[in-house]
Amino acid sequence: MPARRVNPYRVKLHRSYSVPELADCLGVHKNTVRHWQRDGLTAIDGIRPALFAGSATRTFLLTRQTSRKRPCPPGTIYCFKCRAPQPPALGMVEFIPGIATTGNLMALCDACGTPMHRRANAAKIGTIMPGLAVQIRQAPPRLLERACPSLNCDKPKD
Ligand SMILES: [Zn+2]
Repeated sequence: MPARRVNPYRVKLHRSYSVPELADCLGVHKNTVRHWQRDGLTAIDGIRPALFAGSATRTFLLTRQTSRKRPCPPGTIYCFKCRAPQPPALGMVEFIPGIATTGNLMALCDACGTPMHRRANAAKIGTIMPGLAVQIRQAPPRLLERACPSLNCDKPKD
């Protein structure tokens, strides 16, 4: 299990926090706060024990979360089995439209065959999957309609 994500917005901008207060506020162990300090979270100068400004702490946590995300290079989707961005097997990608302009790109991993998914904006498919023929699949029926046993139930036969 990956470590539970902290919510940087629980830190109040205009408050200062001691190590135990910060740990308490974010629901983490005191040692986690000390790790953050080692990773670049700076305490307010000249105060012992350490005090952290809420604004600096929030910025630190937000930056850290953003930089952790590893964007996939174009033409790849993240494979959770390989733990790496992989090209689609046989260059085949399917786009399943979702709400509004977003949807899911689906492909099989070229290395291990595991299904891979990637959220994508329909307008950006060409940029995300350059040179690949992306098949657009019809949107699946909404959850309520899915109770129907037949796939063709939305077009009743007379
Ligand atoms: Zn894989």
